[in-house]
Amino acid sequence: MGLLEQKRHFSVNLLDWYMVNRRDLPWRRHNNPYFTWVSEIMLQQTRVDTVIPYFNRFIGNFPTVQALAEAPEEDVLKNWEGLGYYSRARNLQAAARQVMELHGGEMPQDKQAVFALKGVGPYTAGAILSIAFNQPQPAVDGNVMRVLSRYFLIDEDIMKGSTRVLMEELAGELIPEGRARDFNQALMELGALVCTPKAPHCLTCPVMEQCSGRIAGRELTLPVKTKAKPPRPEQRLVAIVEGRGAHRGRVLVRQRPATGLLARMWELPHVLAAPAAAGKAAGPLADEPAMALLAGSLWAEGFAARPEGLATHAEHVFSHIVWSLQVYKCTEQDQSNELPLIAAEARAAYDAQAAASDHSSSASAASELATTYSEQFHSVTSLLSNQSEDADLLDESPAADDAQLTLIGKGDGLTYRWIGPEDMDKMAFPNIFLKLISSYFAGAYDDVNE
Ligand code: SF4
Repeated sequence: MGLLEQKRHFSVNLLDWYMVNRRDLPWRRHNNPYFTWVSEIMLQQTRVDTVIPYFNRFIGNFPTVQALAEAPEEDVLKNWEGLGYYSRARNLQAAARQVMELHGGEMPQDKQAVFALKGVGPYTAGAILSIAFNQPQPAVDGNVMRVLSRYFLIDEDIMKGSTRVLMEELAGELIPEGRARDFNQALMELGALVCTPKAPHCLTCPVMEQCSGRIAGRELTLPVKTKAKPPRPEQRLVAIVEGRGAHRGRVLVRQRPATGLLARMWELPHVLAAPAAAGKAAGPLADEPAMALLAGSLWAEGFAARPEGLATHAEHVFSHIVWSLQVYKCTEQDQSNELPLIAAEARAAYDAQAAASDHSSSASAASELATTYSEQFHSVTSLLSNQSEDADLLDESPAADDAQLTLIGKGDGLTYRWIGPEDMDKMAFPNIFLKLISSYFAGAYDDVNE
């Protein structure tokens, strides 16, 4: 069989199969470009089953491009909470504002204009144009490249840009005239349900008869994909600072800076414990130096708190970093009276750890650890030695009735708040902190050091 016939077989059989087997998904019930767009952004990171409730809630709260464009960012992030990759939510809202300003609130149908929207890459642009407007544009993501690699027995590395170009050309040629909307969704559906990454269901596949990969016994070795760089491991110490006095029943949270990882999301205060060496996890720190480092770091951020004990371990995986978290329950202390004591304890624990590191089998790891401690405690000790001159700075520390605090001159201008359970619905947290704070309010760490 020639290549032309193989292509025809693929397009015809795939489309026939899809028309019978297509799933009923909320974004497929209307030809609404905005719904297509939102669903495609959500589906880039998550499975269909998980996306459905998020999609329904998001569209329920932001039913139009205009509603999304005009919403407070905090509300948008709150509705995205749990999906991860929050920059995508921010980009979606920024692009909604572009659509309002440049296109009068109507999704553009021109390829360049769609591509110019923030957060819209070649795949999403192709998906919007084909699904919403039935334009013959390819929409090629990892799933589609897997299917095409197998069916056409393509040995090119799908991580390479040149392979993507080749795949886009091929996918474009396969679209039957006037059927872009259904065909592209059929291709995505085949990758999601049949030609799956680890165990393709070749026996029930609508294109199995002419699948070159299956015939060559290569369905499990294709696509060719060079390994992505492994995520960088980081050991981090997290503080659940329990309020006292006017803050009783509340915990301290801070808002991340306006740019970078998890921008503007709320989190528990945390600090890098020790750097990883050559892609290897640094490993957990012993509790005593960990608590000392945490106390010192909190002071550097402007808070006096005494770590009481380990509450839990947790892990949070980003695409490029893995956080291994040691979470300590801490209690708020009187800033003026207790601080020197805490800092002195912290310094002593650091000295002890640094001395112990001299005898460690790994000299470079010990020296890296010592450097980290040194950096942390430099700021603590210099602040301590200048306490009297820093009177203004100390005045910025949490006052008993402060609901929201902005520290100036410390903590990079971060915003801090004491929150109770009732605040959880109003603020956007990355999943890991949502779980930790919810667990705390549910009493999961009540017995730490009791
Ligand atoms: S026959 Fe198997 S390898 Fe080929 S496209 Fe179908 S599921 Fe994928």
